Amino acid sequence: MTDVLRINDLVVEYTTQRGVARAVDRVILSLPENRTLGLAGESGCGKSTLGRAIMQLVPYPGRIVSGEITLNIDHDQVWKKGTIPKGDVPILDMTEDQMRSLRGSEIAYIFQDPMTSLNPMLSIGKHFVQMQQAHNPDIEEAEAIERATEVLEALGILAERVNDYPHQFSGGMRQRVMIGLGLVLRPRLLISDEPTTSLDVIVEAQILEEIQELKDMFNLTMILITHNLGVLAQTADDVAIMYAGRMAEIDTTETLFDNPQHPYTQALLQCVPDVTKPEKQLAWIPGAPPDLVDPPMGCMYHPRCPFAMDICKAEQPSLLESDTGGLVACHLYGRK
Ligand code: SF4
Repeated sequence: MTDVLRINDLVVEYTTQRGVARAVDRVILSLPENRTLGLAGESGCGKSTLGRAIMQLVPYPGRIVSGEITLNIDHDQVWKKGTIPKGDVPILDMTEDQMRSLRGSEIAYIFQDPMTSLNPMLSIGKHFVQMQQAHNPDIEEAEAIERATEVLEALGILAERVNDYPHQFSGGMRQRVMIGLGLVLRPRLLISDEPTTSLDVIVEAQILEEIQELKDMFNLTMILITHNLGVLAQTADDVAIMYAGRMAEIDTTETLFDNPQHPYTQALLQCVPDVTKPEKQLAWIPGAPPDLVDPPMGCMYHPRCPFAMDICKAEQPSLLESDTGGLVACHLYGRK
């Protein structure tokens, strides 16, 4: 199966007044076609920075320091000064103009907050027209609207609502519009960053179901960024757990939930409420994520880990194959 995305040794840093914080630290990842990868971890673990790095949209004062990101595209991508041939595209070698042509048409990103991502002065239809004309200035407005209504109807939004403005939509509907904008150019890879965080549980469940249907309909490969492991249990084929900018564990969703290897994954899963055991007290992970400007030596998780050994305080564990066939970065495992 073709890998739509491969990331090798990616490092992203933010320069702060206190020093340099390494938000993504030598991340390695591959994402086969048509699979959904869930990216999870506590706030500040680097998952959104990783998502933005794939788009080359790391906000200032962040910067991609080193590494490789390869996106596979299945048709030639025409941009204003030439063509990006189909096949593996080294994202970090692309110019800003080339990236502009890839964003939306090959990789789309759905941001967390639909209200701040939509322009209150523009009708929903106008958003879709602008998005399509930015990639294809020759497309007629009528054709762009027709494509928009096709996508919106797949998301349960009536065609006549293209003339409405963002404030006339509920939070769930606005998020559906954002998903529609992400899909209208038929990207190969969709990165969805906490798509249901601000929604109530009923709308959240509906939107997650719709995302699954759209994934099949549009033949998508997806990265779903969330701190909600329950969401990933329902939607992801594979899960990657990040801690302090590093990959802690990657495995299939089923294996990771049934047989987590990394102590941090185990602790995260213990914090998920179990509706079948309402009497069970909720667990928590003692301590706090490390200060990335002044991180601890060795395994970043060692100050919080109940299994920490001497080696954990001195040596960073590498991401190696685990007994379950996944990958884990922990001195307890991966010594095959
Ligand atoms: Fe815990 Fe050591 Fe594994 Fe880190 S490497 S998770 S400290 S056992």
